[in-house]
Amino acid sequence: MPYDIVIVGGGPAKVDPMKRETSVPGIYASGDLTTRMQAAIISAAAGMHAAAMINVDLMMELT
Ligand SMILES: Cc1cc2nc3c(=O)[nH]c(=O)nc-3n(C[C@H](O)[C@H](O)[C@H](O)COP(=O)(O)OP(=O)(O)OC[C@H]3O[C@@H](n4cnc5c(N)ncnc54)[C@H](O)[C@@H]3O)c2cc1C
Repeated sequence: MPYDIVIVGGGPAKVDPMKRETSVPGIYASGDLTTRMQAAIISAAAGMHAAAMINVDLMMELT
């Protein structure tokens, strides 16, 4: 399923909700860029989610 990156203006950037990856492979997004529910704890959680998924992808590359 394609996800678009909104660079300037418009709504939040779209990411795969499971991986937090954008339509560009290897580019992940989180925080205010990806939601209208702007709050520090939500951004921090999304950032941790993205970091965990990046780690998974890196581990998959090694195996
Ligand atoms: C006035 C105000 C009050 C708020 N009060 C609260 C509150 O009480 N409680 C709460 O939970 N949330 C509050 N928020 C929301 C909270 O601050 C944000 O949801 C949170 O900081 C988002 O974190 P983020 O990492 O997604 O983005 P940000 O914290 O905005 O971090 C993005 C970073 O990217 C940098 N950047 C931007 N463009 C580029 C570029 N091209 N290259 C390199 N770096 C770039 C910016 O300089 C910035 O440091 C408030 C927001 C505002 C504006």
